[in-house]
Order: sequence, then C-alpha cells, then structure tokens
Amino acid sequence: MNSNEIDIHKELKKYFGFSQFKGLQEQVIKSLLDRQNTFVIMPTGGGKSLCYQLPALTQDGTAIVVSPLIALMKNQVDAIRSLSSENGIAHVLNSSLTKTEITQVKKDITSGLTKLLYVAPESLTKEENVNFLKTVKISFVAIDEAHCISEWGHDFRPEYRNLKHIIKQLGDLPIIGLTATATPKVQEDILKNLDMCDATTFKASFNRPNLYYEVRTKTKNVESDIIRFIKQHKGKSGIIYCLSRKKVEAIAHVLQVNGISAVPYHAGLDAKTRARHQDMFLMEDVDVVVATIAFGMGIDKPDVRFVIHHDIPKSLESYYQETGRAGRDGGEGHCLAYYSYKDVEKLEKFMSGKPVAEQEIGFALLQEVVAYAETSMSRRKFLLHYFGEEFDNATGEGGDMDDNVRNPKVKIEAQDQVVK
Ligand code: ADP
Ligand code: MG
Repeated sequence: MNSNEIDIHKELKKYFGFSQFKGLQEQVIKSLLDRQNTFVIMPTGGGKSLCYQLPALTQDGTAIVVSPLIALMKNQVDAIRSLSSENGIAHVLNSSLTKTEITQVKKDITSGLTKLLYVAPESLTKEENVNFLKTVKISFVAIDEAHCISEWGHDFRPEYRNLKHIIKQLGDLPIIGLTATATPKVQEDILKNLDMCDATTFKASFNRPNLYYEVRTKTKNVESDIIRFIKQHKGKSGIIYCLSRKKVEAIAHVLQVNGISAVPYHAGLDAKTRARHQDMFLMEDVDVVVATIAFGMGIDKPDVRFVIHHDIPKSLESYYQETGRAGRDGGEGHCLAYYSYKDVEKLEKFMSGKPVAEQEIGFALLQEVVAYAETSMSRRKFLLHYFGEEFDNATGEGGDMDDNVRNPKVKIEAQDQVVK
C-alpha cells in the first residue's frame, strides 16, 4: 500500500490519539509509505519516532528499527504495546533474551503479528539473526540516532558502519534514517554510509526563538558572577554545566554557602544519590543542579530558565543539546557560557591522549566553539549556520535574542579608519 491508499490521519488518531501531525511528520510518512529512502533531521522532541512507527503499524510485514540503547528500545516497545492489545506487536531482539523468549519473538514475526522489531546494531550483525530475517517479510528498516554512523557525531558507534551491508542482504528495502544532529558533515556521512544519497531529506528548523544566548569572558570572578546571575533569577530552575566532577562539587558548595539551593550531579556519585538529586530538581526542592554532561539525557523539565556553562563544551553540537534543556515550555531560557582560552587549552590537553584521527576531529570541533565564543556576529545566526541553516535576524524569530545583537561589539578596525 502506498501513501494514497492509507488514511494516515485516521491511523494517527487510531493508534496514537493525536489529531494532527507535528512539523514534517506527514510528509516523512508519505515518503516512506511510497517506499523511498528517507532522511529525517529534527531536533530532540520533534517527534521522530512516530515517523517510522505509524508506517510500520499500517503496513504488512515487520519494520526493523535499529537503535543504540537497550533502555531506549525497551521504553519504545512498552509505549507501542500500550497502544495495542497484542504484546507481540513490538519486540526487542537482543542478547539478553532467553531461548524461550527468542522462539516467541520469531513466532510472532513469522505469523505477521510483529510490526516493529527493535534491534541493537550488534544483534543485527549476528549471522543467526540475519538468516532468520531473510526468511520473513520486512516492511522497511529504520535507523534511529543515525549520527552514530559518523565519527563527526557525538556518539560514534563502529557497528553502525556494518548496517548497510546487512540491510542489502535482506532485500531491496526502503531505509529511513533519523537524527537530531544537524551538522552538514554528519548528514553527509550518514547518507554515504547508508548508501542512500538518493534519499528524500526532511529537515526541521533548529531555531529556538525563546532562548537568549550570551557569552561572557571568564575571569577569576566567575563564581561571584554566577552567584549574582542566579540571585537575579531567584526561585527559577537552572542547570550549571562544568567539565570536571571536582568543579561540580566545588561550585555546588560555593552556591550552597551563598544561600542558593543547589545539588551536585555527576557520574562519580552513587546511583541513589544521583537519582535523589535529579528528583529534587524535578520536584523543585532545589533550584539549581550543578552537573557534568552526565546530567540531562532524557530530562524533560519544561521550565528550566537558565543553563550556564561554567566551562565551554567540546563541540557546538553538545552546546546546542545542553542549552536546549532551557525553555522547553516556550518561556524564558537564558543560555550563558563563560569563555577563556585557558579552558580551550585544557580540553586540547585532554584530547592529546587519544588516537590521531579522533584528535583531529576533536580539535576541529573545538575550534568551532572558539569561533562561536569569539564572534561578534549574532550567536543564533552563528549556531544555525553551523547546522547548515541560514538565519536572517531582521525577519527570523528570536532575531534579537543574543548578546551580540543587543549590544554590538565596537568594531575597533572600523573606528580606526574613521579617526584617520
Ligand atoms: P524525538 O525522537 O524526535 O526526540 P519523540 O519521537 O520521542 O521525539 O517524540 C517527542 C514527543 O512528541 C513524544 O512525547 C510524542 O508522543 C510527541 N508527539 C509526537 N508526534 C506527535 C503529534 N503528532 N502530536 C502530538 N504529540 C506528538
Ligand atoms: Mg528519538
């Protein structure tokens, strides 16, 4: 069945209870139902899952969904099962299953009951699994978090590189790749490595009009500056990112002795403490979380009012993700980064222990962060340009929402000329 034969609005309502598609979902779904290779780039929370879930549910055969994290797959499978009376409608195939469970999964797929089969890339490379999948009807293959295929992404997974080879063995199947990573380099890598340069690409805007971007020079007074900032935002929720666990502890302590309710969060704390601190933040028992990048994945607190980077991040991609946790509800979100070249050198030193190829990529990504911090042009324009998006401050939403636009830096060169 192609996109003309399925009433996708009806199916949307029937399965998901939504009466409207979000953003580009409808076009994406039509493209996939017409059996075209399809590439979707949407920010986190954009609604990417539905782009393959709906076509899977409405077509014959089983859709294979490749996803990097077992926890993520389990959540999705549970969510799909809750939409149906049949448990077998969605399954995970991975190494943790018992023999009996595997037999059941295979039975459900063979009988046509299973519409979505979630697999980790390493399970898909297993010969036994490939041989089985060759014998059943597959509708299409979805590659979620497709940036994992690229060394220029933030989460490179070598097993993603084998996917194309395996998919080809399963027949001539349409592929849908999905990611929230918008840099042109990563996109190019995805299309090349999945051998789908013919894909129809759907890219949503990454502009977050309600976020205000600001960079301040980091001096020895950074801590009192942060305290002043937080006191100006009294009672509001915020996240402060630091590079090291030690710094996290130190800043959290400084805030506490200055009467700010703050807790630390990093991977060095035991799981119980981490969970407690996260809950305290979500329940608003504390205003501020001071954290390493370990904090934030999957955190959906709508009213985070500021995100402060005490230390600059290692890429603009990370910066965008981390600042993206502010203002989810569309309200105020102040994104403040402290910048000093010493921190850049520190990050470079961290990287110097890594393999050369990795180092080169790391340096290049870091140079973009430096350029962002030092630019006198609109931060929003700069960020969006990095993601391959042209932004016009005069007409675009949020065009005046950054420090460089509000307070243009005095152009010294230009002034010199005037004086002469
Ligand atoms: P992504 O994978 O792009 O980060 P998800 O697929 O997890 O995003 O979806 C984010 C949220 O948007 C989910 O809570 C989902 O239920 C919701 N959502 C998706 N599509 C729609 C829609 N058409 N209408 C309303 N909510 C939607
Ligand atoms: Mg997703």
